[in-house]
Parts: sequence; C-alpha cells; structure tokens
Amino acid sequence: MNRVHIKTYGCQMNERDSEAVAAMLRARGYRIVASEDDCDVLLLNTCSVRDAAEQKAIGKAGHLLARKRGDPDFVLGILGCMAQNRGAGLLDRLPDVDLIVGTQKFHRVPDYLDNLRAAREAGAPVGEAVVDIGEEAGSQNTIRDHMEGPDRRVCAFVSIQQGCNMDCSFCIVPTTRGDERSRPMDDIVRECEDLAARGAREITLLGQIVTSYGRRDYPHTGGVSPFVQLLGRVNAVAGIERIRFTSPHPRGFRQDLARAYSSMPKLGEHVHLPVQSGSNRILRAMRRPYTRERYLEIVASLRAAQPAMAFSTDIIVGFPGETDSDFEDTRALCEAVDYDMAYIFKYSVRSGTPAASMPGQVPEGVREERNQALLEVLRAGSLRRSQALVGTVQEVLVEGPDRTGLRFTGRTRANRAAVFEAAPRLVGHLVPVEIARASVSTLYGELVGADAGLQTAPGAASL
Ligand code: SAM
Repeated sequence: MNRVHIKTYGCQMNERDSEAVAAMLRARGYRIVASEDDCDVLLLNTCSVRDAAEQKAIGKAGHLLARKRGDPDFVLGILGCMAQNRGAGLLDRLPDVDLIVGTQKFHRVPDYLDNLRAAREAGAPVGEAVVDIGEEAGSQNTIRDHMEGPDRRVCAFVSIQQGCNMDCSFCIVPTTRGDERSRPMDDIVRECEDLAARGAREITLLGQIVTSYGRRDYPHTGGVSPFVQLLGRVNAVAGIERIRFTSPHPRGFRQDLARAYSSMPKLGEHVHLPVQSGSNRILRAMRRPYTRERYLEIVASLRAAQPAMAFSTDIIVGFPGETDSDFEDTRALCEAVDYDMAYIFKYSVRSGTPAASMPGQVPEGVREERNQALLEVLRAGSLRRSQALVGTVQEVLVEGPDRTGLRFTGRTRANRAAVFEAAPRLVGHLVPVEIARASVSTLYGELVGADAGLQTAPGAASL
C-alpha cells in the first residue's frame, strides 16, 4: 500500500501544495506514481473557486468509490479547498472516502496514511473517515518541500503566503484558505537558493494575494513594501535568472513595485494584473478597491517603467447585475490594455459569499455569450501582439523538450511560449531565438548567435 497518485485540480498554488505533499510522502517511503490505475492510494487535491471545479472532483471521487468497492484496500483521500469548504458534509455524497484533509493540514497527510496502512496491516476493521479541516498556526511554513526528479527542474514554484484577507463579494478563497499568513522572508530566500543550487533558473512566487506579502510581519522601509523587499532579495540570488509571481492584486501596484520593474531585470516584461471587470459599478459590487481609471493608471505606470510590458488578467463575466453597458466597459478596457492573455471566468455562484444572494443573477446563456465575445476580443489582440514579434529576437529560457519531443520549448521574458530546435545541453540556459512565425499563444523560431545551427535529431530532445 505504498504507491500514491495525486490528482490536482485548480490553480498553481494547488499544484505546489500537491508537490509538497508528494515530497513529504516520498521522504516517508511512499512511491509517487504517475498512473492512477496502478496506485494503492489516490489523493484528489481539489479546487472550490467555481462550482464546476467542485462538481468535477465530486464526479471523479464517485467514480473511484466504485473501484474501492472491488478493492477495499484502495485508499481515497480528498484534500485542499473543497475538503475545507465541505468538510464532513462530503461524506453524505461520498460515504466511503478515507481522508478529508483541509488546506491547513496538508503536512498531516503522511501521518494519516501511515496510520491507515498500519491499521490495514494489523487487519483492523475499516474505521470512520479521517476528517481534519482545522486551522493550524504556522501551516503556511509547511509548504516548502520539493520533489527531486531525474530531470533538472528549470522553473520552480515557491509558496510565500497562504490565505486571503480581501473581501471580494464573489470569492470563496478566504473561506477555503483562511486568513492571510506569510512565510518568513529568510526561509523563502533560503528555499530559492536551494532551488538555484539544484538547477532552477526561474522562480515563481505564489500566494493568493502576493502583493500583500508580509504586511503584518515586516515594516515598509523607505516606501518599499515587504513584497518588493522580498523581490529584491530573490533578485540577488545567484543562479536565478527570472522571477515571476502570481497572483497579485492591483491594490499592491504602487511606485515601489513599478520601480522594481526598472531596477530588477530578472522580473522580465510581464505582469498578471487581475481586473475582474471594466465597469466601476460592478467593481464596487465586487468590493474591488479600485476603479477602471486607477487600473489604467497602473498599467500606464508599468508601461512607463518597461515599454514592452505584456499584461495578462482575470475577468469575471456575468457578475450579478452586470448589464450590457457594464459588459461593454469590460470589453473597452480589454481593448485599451491590449492584453497578451486572460483567464475569463463565467460568474459562478459560491454559497456563503455576498454575491450569491445579490439580485440580478445573469442567465447562463448571457454569461456564455459575453464569455465568447470577450474570448474573441482577446484572441484577436493576442494574435496581433504575437505576430508583431515575428522577425524580432527574443531571450528564451530553455525549459526542456516540447510536447512532440522533437523540439524544445521555453518562455520569453514577456512569458510567451516559444518552440525551436536546440540541444539538450541548452536546457536551463537563456538563448536568443529569432521568431519566424506566431500563433495566438506560441512563437516558433530559430536559435541565433553562438548556438545557431544546433540541430535536434528527431527524438533527440528527450533528456
Ligand atoms: N489575486 C486574485 C485577485 O486579484 O482577486 C485572486 C485569484 S482567484 C483565486 C482566481 C480567479 O478566480 C479570480 O481572479 C477570479 O477571476 C476567479 N473567480 C473567483 N471567484 C469566482 C467566482 N465565484 N466565479 C467566477 N470566477 C471566480
């Protein structure tokens, strides 16, 4: 009973939590396996941001319980946000689940599995499900272990904070992730140094509202927020070539952060800046503490710091009360910012949030229409911005083989995916790539300079 498969739903934070659980389990002697068909323990690390994500995980768990009926030793656990949100209530729908572990208890998973294994080996009758969704002081400090793999990991994720104290009327995250808690800056920097020593060249700092990092724990010094202080320290780590972060809040973009984009070249020319809506009326109803004018001012200040700055965002369409005119404001804002990329979400009712009981819920048909209309605006803008790069030379961090295994892939400083021929020895290096053609989301090009002419024989890209 030691082969564990972890299936992750949702955001990069969930991916990072899963990796930390996997690393803790491996240190305890469990084998982490890629196939869900050949495992003894299956852990679903879940997402609650939208109802569809919860329904998907519940459907999957229901399906897996059928397997459990044929194999009583098979262990099924539900971890993360949905476990936190629904707790023991999940057992009404999924009575035979073995483990329900919330977002502040990931580090307890190895103990719970050890106990289950010991009980099964001793022939003890199957007991009640373990449900652990309590709060735990310091739990933010437990997401720190990384998996060692045979391949060099060029891009690594580092959790800097858990929880969220914002008050967005649509969002369930403060319930599922709890209060905002930051990790000590020294621990984060040490983790980045270790990752750099193991071959990481790009670090993505993760949190629900990263720009609020450390605001209760560290003073602003000389007008510089703790988050920007942290960026400065990670920027100084030798071996790290690029720093990204997600997800920030527009509120955190003051002069100190705009200036960081001029003074810290490792930040590149990309910002993810969630806007949610382009209508001031809807922003107020969402309890977002900025206006469209302020948002556009932030965009302008970042473009002043870095003229080539590329933006991505999160947008919710069909928030309660959103009229055609509100939606047109969002469409116009998208055109004004000229995003490279956006996650567009149809508003999803989350029980217990203020927006769930607001009047003027928008019918699904209208939400879908607005979703499609906005996707089209973004697709056209993104393609235009991509094609403008044809003929330019972009600095690309080589991450590894592409999906076909025939070429290599990496990202530009502005976070665009690029595909090109290279050689395995260039993985982890910054290389110049001349862009020959572009699709909406991918650039295709050739190495230039000293490494030009490095051909990849078919199949040779696998490391
Ligand atoms: N830092 C981000 C911000 O500024 O709010 C929060 C990231 S949140 C976990 C990810 C995204 O999910 C949000 O930006 C929002 O667009 C989307 N989202 C959250 N609640 C939603 C809901 N009820 N319906 C649809 N989308 C939602």
